[in-house]
Order: sequence, then C-alpha cells, then structure tokens
Amino acid sequence: MLVDVHCHLEHEWLKPNLDKIIKKCRENQVIAITSGVNPGTNREALEIAKKYPDVVKVSLGLYPIDALEAEINTGEFPRILEKFNIDDELKFIESKKDEIVAIGEVGVDFHWTQDRKEEQLKTFEKVIQLAQRINKPLVVHSRKGEKEAVELLESFNVKKVVMHCFNGNFKLVKRIEDNGWYLSIPPIIIRNLHFQGVVNLVSINNLLTETDSPYLAPPPLKINEPCNVIKTIEKIAELKNMNIEEVKKNIYMNYQNLFLK
Ligand SMILES: [Zn+2]
Repeated sequence: MLVDVHCHLEHEWLKPNLDKIIKKCRENQVIAITSGVNPGTNREALEIAKKYPDVVKVSLGLYPIDALEAEINTGEFPRILEKFNIDDELKFIESKKDEIVAIGEVGVDFHWTQDRKEEQLKTFEKVIQLAQRINKPLVVHSRKGEKEAVELLESFNVKKVVMHCFNGNFKLVKRIEDNGWYLSIPPIIIRNLHFQGVVNLVSINNLLTETDSPYLAPPPLKINEPCNVIKTIEKIAELKNMNIEEVKKNIYMNYQNLFLK
C-alpha cells in the first residue's frame, strides 16, 4: 500500500477529474488524506471521503492565510477567501473528531503575512490545544516560520506531528526527528536537493510521503495527484539504498502508527 498524507482533493483543479483520480488510486493501492483549509473546503473534504471511503481519509484544518483573511493577489492560489469565526470552525472540527484522522492543514506562513505573526501564532496555539484534546496528529505548514512553528509545538509537548513539505534548515530537521515527529516528502524530491538532503539526514522511521496535490507537481507534470507518491518512494529507495518494497512497507507502517492509532 502507498499513502499520500497530504493533498487537496477538494481543489478546483482536481474536482472535474476526481472519479478518474480515485480510480487510479484504487488501481495503484494509494490511500489519500485530503486536507481542508477553511470552512468550505473542510465540508467538501468530508463529503469526498464519504463518497470514496476506501481511498480517502480526512484531515480538517485552517490554513494560516485563510484564518487571517489575508489577501492573496498573485493569482497562483485560486482559493476563495471566506470570512469566518475561528473558534466556531475549531468547534466544528472537534464535532467531527470521529470522522477525521488528523488536523491540518494548519500552522504559520510568514511569507505572505510577516506583519501578523503574533495573530497567526495565537491561532496556531488554539489549533494545537484542540489536537491535544481530541488526540489527533497535526499536519503542519510552516513556510518562513519553521523555527517558530517547531518551538510552539515543543512548548506544548506535542507528540503527533507531520511537518509537511518542510523547508527549514537541517538543524531543525534533526530536531524534528529527535522529537519523534515526521517529515512528509513530496514528489518534487526527484529534482529538489533540499528534500534529498532531508531524506539522507533522517531515519526512514520519521518519513512519510505526500503530494500536496494539485500543487507541487513533479516536472514535467503541471497538476499533481496522489498516485505520484510512488516517485517519492522510488527516490527514497535510491537515496537510502533500500528496495522499493521495503520503503513502501516502512512508510505505510509510519502512516499507521501516526494516523490510525
Ligand atoms: Zn497543502
């Protein structure tokens, strides 16, 4: 079995082809954890999992940018910004605790909103407390706020963490491993020296596979999908000098240990 621990199946770019994408997951034995990022996508993620229960698991979250209602003007991220009450949405997530395997995508993003760090950290704190209350792992986004995110999680002594697409330095990567947390590696590792370095540095016991679909497609593809986790598996096997079946088994075991226990 293969697993994509972080993707966005409710995304506009994937929706029209969802039946096909799921069929391919079945054929390739891929489990996909789809991550909501705001009230609308959280509800859609739950619907998708109901429609394809054998393939799709759900993680509900609050993307830092949406949580802050910051403007995204690049056009690269066709998200609908919604105005909503953070505490109400956290209550909604809590009410769905038996339907979800994780809380995410959550965290901080200081790339877009450097001026609102405190606000983001405060929201993240509430999210961490919720995860601890319902005993679910956190799938964490930490762009340009890697150190702050790690420090905050440590201050709450959080045990179940996946740092998704982690771009922090190798000292932090080592710290994540020492904390017993996981790093999920996207298929762009085939061309990305940072992720290759991460895989070389940490034990297979701390690695997971993700795609962040539809984003981060491995070239020459334009749109990513869960089945591409096999590309990460192959690269890990090459870098760690292991056989592909062994890597698949290890990663799937890590997934079970973190999300299904
Ligand atoms: Zn994502």
